Amino acid sequence: MNCPSCGAPMRLQADKDYLVCDYCGTMHFPDPNADGVRVLDVVALESCPVCKVPLVHAAVNGERILYCNRCRGILVEMEVFVAILDELRSRQPGTEFSVRQPDWNDLKRHINCPRCGAEMETHPYGGPGNVIIDSCEHCSMNWLDYSELQRIVRAPDRRYPTEETSTEG
Ligand SMILES: [Zn+2]
Ligand SMILES: [Zn+2]
Ligand SMILES: [Zn+2]
Repeated sequence: MNCPSCGAPMRLQADKDYLVCDYCGTMHFPDPNADGVRVLDVVALESCPVCKVPLVHAAVNGERILYCNRCRGILVEMEVFVAILDELRSRQPGTEFSVRQPDWNDLKRHINCPRCGAEMETHPYGGPGNVIIDSCEHCSMNWLDYSELQRIVRAPDRRYPTEETSTEG
């Protein structure tokens, strides 16, 4: 996009969630959308594994991800994914949620890693939330379909059981 102040092309700062104008110094922070994703509107090299359209750079909670404007899926590195989960979960303790079945059809789908092209491994996420995600072990990348991140964040964390009682004794 171009600078709202002077019209010069804006540059995406590495690992930052805003654009900067080298000409006049203006910084632009796009508002997060309804999914909490700050779409930075800069096209990435990778394409959406589902829609095949180019992904755009975006940020969740200050962490950089790649985002599909069409299907609203997210491509995120494993380390960043964990950091986002920790942060978002700490912000909404005790959020109510209803247990949902995973979408088992997701297990039948096979997509290729947008970065290296290898087939991604489709598996239930190793945590709460009943979400099936796609991972590339080679690149440590995860693909999350629309709303899957939110479902994982809102799920109760099994590290902090609230209703489990010991039956021993
Ligand atoms: Zn400017
Ligand atoms: Zn897509
Ligand atoms: Zn890969």
